[in-house]
Amino acid sequence: MNNIRNFCIIAHIDHGKSTLADRLLERTGTISEREMQEQVLDDMDLERERGITIKSHAIRMDYIRPNDEVYTFNLIDTPGHVDFAYEVSRALKACEGALLVVDAAQGIEAQTISNLYQAIDQNLEIVPVLNKIDLPGADPEGVGQQIVDLIGCDPDEIIKVSGKTGEGVDGLLEAIVERIPGPTREEDKPLKALIFDSIFNTYRGSIAYVRVMEGTLKKGDPILFMATGKEYDAEEIGYLKLKKEPVKELKAGDVGYVIGSVKSLQDAKVGDTITHQKKRAEKAIPGYKEVKPMVFSGIFPTSSEDFEDLRAALEKLQLNDASLTYQPETSKALGFGFRAGFLGLLHMEIVQERLDREFNIDIITTVPNVQYEVDTEEGNRIEVDNPSDMPAAGDIEKVWEPYIKASIITPAEFIGPIMKLCQERRGVYVNQHFMQNNRVEITYELPMAEVVFDFYDKLKSGTRGYASLDYEFIEYRKGDLVRLDILLNGEPVDALSSITHRDKAYYQGRKVCAKLKELIPRQQFEVAVQAAIGSRVIARDTIRALRKDVTAKCYGGDISRKRKLIEKQKEGKKRMKQVGSVDIPQEAFLAVLSMD
Ligand code: GDP
Ligand code: MG
Repeated sequence: MNNIRNFCIIAHIDHGKSTLADRLLERTGTISEREMQEQVLDDMDLERERGITIKSHAIRMDYIRPNDEVYTFNLIDTPGHVDFAYEVSRALKACEGALLVVDAAQGIEAQTISNLYQAIDQNLEIVPVLNKIDLPGADPEGVGQQIVDLIGCDPDEIIKVSGKTGEGVDGLLEAIVERIPGPTREEDKPLKALIFDSIFNTYRGSIAYVRVMEGTLKKGDPILFMATGKEYDAEEIGYLKLKKEPVKELKAGDVGYVIGSVKSLQDAKVGDTITHQKKRAEKAIPGYKEVKPMVFSGIFPTSSEDFEDLRAALEKLQLNDASLTYQPETSKALGFGFRAGFLGLLHMEIVQERLDREFNIDIITTVPNVQYEVDTEEGNRIEVDNPSDMPAAGDIEKVWEPYIKASIITPAEFIGPIMKLCQERRGVYVNQHFMQNNRVEITYELPMAEVVFDFYDKLKSGTRGYASLDYEFIEYRKGDLVRLDILLNGEPVDALSSITHRDKAYYQGRKVCAKLKELIPRQQFEVAVQAAIGSRVIARDTIRALRKDVTAKCYGGDISRKRKLIEKQKEGKKRMKQVGSVDIPQEAFLAVLSMD
């Protein structure tokens, strides 16, 4: 009898994935009510606060059916955000089934669909689940119909639950046994174990989370990582219960962990195949990919003494996050810092926030940008991920920029504003598709550069929060792009340069100058703010000189008020950067792209 079930939960953010996972852990007695801390699977503080799962994890449960049969469940948690699409695909590969969880009050959203398509591509058995049926605003009928239309199931196949009250969860446990097939257990074949996640532990090195697809892995086996070619011994292997539980062997169908004093995450990469050094698998599990950063930004310490601390912090972060890249960068304006590459905007925010919280380093970040490919007059193609590396206009033959395909799901009343937004962002309309409950899926192809900054915020505010977005990279396309420089008193400030479409350069140049005029405090002297393409100035503003000391306004006797003001000024100073002789506040470095 095959009594293993490997599955994951796919859901749009906030549709209740973590809450439902908690209920499964509770009902299977994997975790007692006392141990129950809300959302145990999200174990980084940041994850819990933001209610998102950044890294995927797995957990093993023993489920005893009402007829006393015992089943082993491996629930593999997947990160829900598009930045981590590759990790999601590897986690899905480790499963035979997926619970498709949809919020009965919200209905299907963009991420529900993109994750679902991936799961279908990998031939997973889909178990549709309507969650939050306890909510007064739940519409199980209507949303159920959306699911029926989407996956073509029978309405009675949809399992209705509430992760909050626990209603329906017993039925769901039974459905997992009955509908999701058990894994094939070819234990005698050469070993193939898929790494679907890995984390770094200071004492033990990389810990690989694996699904054994074929063969058997025994404790102590000499193993080979097929993509990186690295060889280690499987010093400890085991199951992933709430704590790690060492075992003697992991067989085809099992999910567990492998520890082998692997020095770096770079050696045990997500998607790689572990095999036996002596009895090798002929081919690795397909789908392995080197993840490439898509979004880049400069990270500089606010005070230059923190440079080495920043380097040490980035090193530490990278140990646990193989997709973060960085290299030293020198900016005339900001001094020594780093150019960092991220999978996407959320990934970038997470890294920035961790630098601040876990390492307590004050940083200034520059406007994020994508990576361009530039054909030079001399016939070379170069990659440009920093506006200041963009060759002068005369040396450029062609510029290529990354495009994405964006899928937006929205109530029909917002079609107009969404199309307007996409059009403004140089989007190319692909199609729209009407769904149940008056919802529409709109598809656009957009330059990624137009989406990385504030597209998502604009989309949300233009639809009162109702629209959801998902996207994937498609290809590089030719674009008429120029470098827009910003000068203060005639000095270019490299960290304020950006790459923009020629048609938008004038508009943007004017906006940036106006914004800087507003953000840069008056100084002792007049400051000219200019925007230029090459040597051509296209916009100009002036910040007039300061006349009086701020404290002069307070009347002489009120010392405490005066002190407060001075302290406030000092605080403001901390977040300022002196460029040439001009003090620039931190926000200015991000203001370059914001359009309103
Ligand atoms: P995730 O982002 O998919 O992991 O969603 P969470 O599990 O974090 O849930 C998002 C929010 O919905 C939280 O505030 C939960 O308390 C709430 N929630 C989750 N499941 C239910 C449910 O069945 N009923 C109700 N009323 N609220 C729920
Ligand atoms: Mg969650």
